[in-house]
Amino acid sequence: MEDGKPVWAPHPADGFQLGTIVDIGSDSLTIEPLKQRGKTFLAPISQVFPAEDDVNKHVEDNCSLMYLNEATLLNNIRVRYSKDKIYTFVANILIAVNPYYDIPKLYSPETIKQYQGRSLGTLPPHVYAIADKAYRDMKVLKMSQSIIVSGESGAGKTENTKFRLFFLLQSCPPGVGSDLHFPAANPLLEAFGNAKTVRNNNSSRFGKFVEIHFNEKNAVVGGFVSHYLLEKSRICRQGPEERNYHIFYRLCAGAPEEIRQKFHLSSPNTFRYLNRGCTRFFASKDTDKQIMQNRKSPEHMKSGPLKDALLDDHGDFNRICVAMKKIGLDDTEKLDLFRVVAGVLHLGNIDFEEAGSTSGDKVSFVYCCEEDLRVSLTTRVMLTTAGGAKGTVIKVPLKVEQANNARDALGKAVYSRLFDHVVTRVNQCFPFESSANFIGVLDIAGFEYFEHNSFEQFCINYCNEKLQQFFNERILKEEQELYQKEGLGVNEVHYVDNQDCIDLVEAKLVGILDILDEENRLPQPSDQHFTDTVHSKHKEHFRLTVPRKSKLAVHRNVRDDEGFIIRHFAGAVCYETTKFVEKNNDALHMSLECLISESKDRFIRELFENSNNSKDVKQKAGKLSFISVGNKFKVRGSSFIRCIKPNLKMVSHQFEGAQILSQLQCSGMVSVLDLMQGGFPSRAAFHELYNMYQKYMPPKLTRLDPRLFCKALFKALGLNENDYKFGLTRVFFRPGKFAEFDQIMKSD
Ligand code: ATP
Ligand code: MG
Repeated sequence: MEDGKPVWAPHPADGFQLGTIVDIGSDSLTIEPLKQRGKTFLAPISQVFPAEDDVNKHVEDNCSLMYLNEATLLNNIRVRYSKDKIYTFVANILIAVNPYYDIPKLYSPETIKQYQGRSLGTLPPHVYAIADKAYRDMKVLKMSQSIIVSGESGAGKTENTKFRLFFLLQSCPPGVGSDLHFPAANPLLEAFGNAKTVRNNNSSRFGKFVEIHFNEKNAVVGGFVSHYLLEKSRICRQGPEERNYHIFYRLCAGAPEEIRQKFHLSSPNTFRYLNRGCTRFFASKDTDKQIMQNRKSPEHMKSGPLKDALLDDHGDFNRICVAMKKIGLDDTEKLDLFRVVAGVLHLGNIDFEEAGSTSGDKVSFVYCCEEDLRVSLTTRVMLTTAGGAKGTVIKVPLKVEQANNARDALGKAVYSRLFDHVVTRVNQCFPFESSANFIGVLDIAGFEYFEHNSFEQFCINYCNEKLQQFFNERILKEEQELYQKEGLGVNEVHYVDNQDCIDLVEAKLVGILDILDEENRLPQPSDQHFTDTVHSKHKEHFRLTVPRKSKLAVHRNVRDDEGFIIRHFAGAVCYETTKFVEKNNDALHMSLECLISESKDRFIRELFENSNNSKDVKQKAGKLSFISVGNKFKVRGSSFIRCIKPNLKMVSHQFEGAQILSQLQCSGMVSVLDLMQGGFPSRAAFHELYNMYQKYMPPKLTRLDPRLFCKALFKALGLNENDYKFGLTRVFFRPGKFAEFDQIMKSD
């Protein structure tokens, strides 16, 4: 950084601000902001970065900037965002900022045509470019491909996934799967697996991996959706201003009279599972007038205050009915789904009193007769060996709180089985022939860090830790391997490996997951004992600490060590372990199992039939499915998309620098830059340079083969030999040097 040249220094709201260095200390710099002359401040040296000469210039691939650092990356994304250019490359990684409005023509059929079959980098960055690269790589390398999309809630992962799948289905030759019903499958999956949260009106509360299968001729022959980690706690309880899964409200708002009567449906605010959490249900940007109008609307009268002004539950109900038809669900199947959804709502309304009575009159249409349900929810069947009488069955009455828990456990079990069924049913509508290769698209929640973090965040963050490791391996290791393969003789580049964090969670016996499973097997499992075991097994672990009293105990009435802090790659997170044991245990207690297996409802019985295996196997299957998320990609070609949420208000044209910067850090983008900065981040294949510049060269030179052409060209221009290296297939440039070279060429 030279004297007087502008630098990027930290700014609390914008992330970075321009300034000049006025004094240099031992570990900090005195900066004078460009906007507020005279008002100097101190900044740590490590957080001040050189700025580009022209800060209003933007580039499609961040690697062609003169200076590659987190500040220039943030600025490049900012300038592009202000011009509606929401996509930016960092080498092969695509960054996508959510515009929160429909940018004209961005995803039009013409745009699809433009991107088909064009190499990465020849057209502006786009999600279609990534999809096309995956398709071409699959064709050329004859290898399955995966596209991994990450980002926090509301960043645009699901929307980008839809565009990508649509592009792929449009781009391949016709096959049996050409009319794959993905467009119809989406509304159905989203109705059952998405909900309104404070971060996103249509937040996916499950992870999914969508595979599109191709035959030897690269035509679509099938599809498959796997799902992970449906958020079950939401079924019984929602946070303030959040909703349960869409389907509940849609059914209440849109079901025809006949169904309403049959399933005793009424306004959502009459159901316990829907009316807790949502205190005020209108988005802040609505004017009072709008709210009043909405309150007077017929739909509002039907669904009560839980109607969200931004969501059209009534219209959406009709849309999912259309989608169900397209997928091939007949009326019986449709009613099966609705009956169980309604059944969960009525189940939630059951109350218990000390004497043990219930009011389950409206649930009998789905579960069983009222009396059976009453007994199952208020007592627990146990096998006793006491007094030598082996295997005597006794019925132990439950306390009110235990009965409430039993009811909620049943509600969660039924709904999550229903969701499994919906996914299975969606899969049945896709053709499935034997395929040569597939392209898989992963859409799971990114790293989460809330005020209170529980088992759900623990699982999601562990998944992300695995994905980050994979990302590190792929991007960072591949970078080194590429240098080696191209014979560049560049020294090894170091990065922080997170294997120790992954081991902490998944190691056999001593990993947190195994400790938790072990706790579940104890006669009297407890969250406290589990937490103590975790701490005692990992006393000196770098990644694990006991939370300080202030963190947990002050807010809530809990012992100060009921939880643990894990130092993740993206930051430290404090987990409260209350309910970890319960949430890890999918199994229903025995009396509820019996109840379900004797239900008079065929469909309910079927939902549970396939999983009648032992508790252990069930638990393993659940756990393995999310451990396998991280392992799924090891042998494939892969691309990454990092989605960014521009602001917390969910509005267009607002760029909140500081929180975008933190997303770039959490997603590992900053460590990618660090690595690249030390090496040769910009690169271009010889033939690409040849094609780009031959028109500027005398014919004598253009007769050379591309490699020689480049060598001759670089010699003739007198480029500094430290600024670039010739590999076997391409030229590698030091940061910013490719752009300089390009300028010389074009100005000559
Ligand atoms: P979650 O983790 O909560 O599921 P997500 O990352 O999947 O979040 P999306 O549901 O894809 O987020 O996006 C949130 C909202 O942002 C969308 O409902 C849509 O309104 C808007 N949005 C996202 N991407 C785009 C886009 N490319 N163009 C226009 N609007 C978009
Ligand atoms: Mg989503």
